[in-house]
Amino acid sequence: MTISLEELARYTDSLLETKSTPDYPNAVNGVQMHNQAAIRKVAAAVDFSTRAIQGAISIGANLLLVHHGMFWGGLEPITGSHYGRVRMLIEADIAVYASHLPLDRHPTLGNNALLAKELGLQPSAPFARFENTFTGLCGESDIETEAIIKSARGFAQTYGGDVRTSLVQPDRRTRKWAICTGAGASTDTLREAAAMGVDTLIVGEGPHWTAIHGEENDLVIIYAGHYATETLGVCALAQHLSTKFDLPWSFVSAPTGL
Ligand SMILES: [Zn+2]
Repeated sequence: MTISLEELARYTDSLLETKSTPDYPNAVNGVQMHNQAAIRKVAAAVDFSTRAIQGAISIGANLLLVHHGMFWGGLEPITGSHYGRVRMLIEADIAVYASHLPLDRHPTLGNNALLAKELGLQPSAPFARFENTFTGLCGESDIETEAIIKSARGFAQTYGGDVRTSLVQPDRRTRKWAICTGAGASTDTLREAAAMGVDTLIVGEGPHWTAIHGEENDLVIIYAGHYATETLGVCALAQHLSTKFDLPWSFVSAPTGL
């Protein structure tokens, strides 16, 4: 089956509450690049990149669904590799739809909800405030922190990554955890974690100083990879659209090493 880009975008914008979800200016959520033909196949990728476009072309997709979109790096002239990517899209008649925070925070298709599920953690409250919304999740547990690290490592390795952690004391247990995928370890999330009594914070990545902060504040930070922790949302969204509109889809693997 095929569907017009307009109809697919209208449905997706509404599903993800795209218009009402705040985000960073460079996210530009929604349709970022138009095409001409009706959508016949979807390629899902974490990042908009040359590899992602090549992947979409190789599987015959004409919609590229991404988490970090075409304008993630900010305003730049359409020259060099940026020109190369735009040209490839136009020549292959591929549209681009991006969803950043709307996809991070979605209760069933979101990166945070799906990562919690993947790690066997049951969320009970929101976490990681951003303006008038929350992108992450937190919950209670009583398990060895090492057990969460082991699951996170298995998960990260599936996507070509690995897990790093701040210092973990032997036999330590996790009683309150929080998840914020991607660049989740920040001044704001660490402050929020402290206020909520979180003892284990699972993120994609974070600055070096956050590991010291963790060690000195009885907070274990599990860095499971920016790329890996943000693979789940785009795949779940593509799967959802595939079922809804009877469109084939594929994941384009393009790990960044981070
Ligand atoms: Zn991200």
